[in-house]
Amino acid sequence: MDESDEEIDRAIEAVGSADKIAVLTGAGMSVESGIAPFRGEGGLWEKFDAEEYATINTLHKNPEKSWELFKVQIEEVIDAEPHEGYDALVELEKKGVDEVITQNVDGLHEKAGSSDVLELHGTLLELSCIDCGNGFRTRDHFSDISEGKIPKCECGGIMRPDAALFGEQLDPSVMERSLYAARESDLMLVIGTSAVVQPAASLPSMAKRSGADILEINLDSTPLTQSISDIFLKGKAAKMLSYLVDEFD
Ligand code: NAD
Ligand code: ZN
Repeated sequence: MDESDEEIDRAIEAVGSADKIAVLTGAGMSVESGIAPFRGEGGLWEKFDAEEYATINTLHKNPEKSWELFKVQIEEVIDAEPHEGYDALVELEKKGVDEVITQNVDGLHEKAGSSDVLELHGTLLELSCIDCGNGFRTRDHFSDISEGKIPKCECGGIMRPDAALFGEQLDPSVMERSLYAARESDLMLVIGTSAVVQPAASLPSMAKRSGADILEINLDSTPLTQSISDIFLKGKAAKMLSYLVDEFD
């Protein structure tokens, strides 16, 4: 048995003995579903400068530029399918997972069937008009989007995805419920997040301060790994999560 087998055993034990498990996922959770993360190898920021494309200012001053990025993101997520790690989280609801908090905007937790998902950064699967606020399904406007056109509302206003841009407030009620879930949990699974984007990055330390253990799954170590993670499973989300549920079949 090597060190990682021992770490997996500790993880299985922690999941088995927890009553309330909160989950926080980041872009790394969806890499194996074919969706690029922001940071690191193959990340979107290799091609797009975040400051230039993904801010609320750019959307208002130069929407064509913002839509260059949105088009790439929407094309990636529209037909993406959740991998076995997503199914594992649905299975883990029987073991105490009651809240999945995600920074992702790809809708994959819902698609997999997780029942209580808090989308901290919103979703790319819905759009709204920046003038009148009317809401639309991204899929209904996908042919325009894939042709490089900016979808327009009947009122003449342009649409935008309901995903948070830099410089925007997150939905306060979703943030509040996430903080509550973090504080109430006795185990938090932190999966595929570089833990540098605030305020999501503060949820694990909030959970820890309220007495939760932190079980981190990531390909690489993060600022959390040496500071607050009690258990660190170094590897891909799909495989590591399926180890956790295999035990409880
Ligand atoms: P990030 O891009 O900053 O970091 C991704 C993390 O995932 C890294 O720590 C990396 O080591 C890890 N990782 C990569 N592949 C992995 C795998 N197969 N298994 C486990 N871990 C893996 O991601 P973040 O921390 O979520 O950054 C936050 C921002 O990125 C959020 O605002 C989110 O909205 C946005 N984002 C979302 C998506 C999506 O919805 N799928 C995609 C790109 C970016
Ligand atoms: Zn409108």
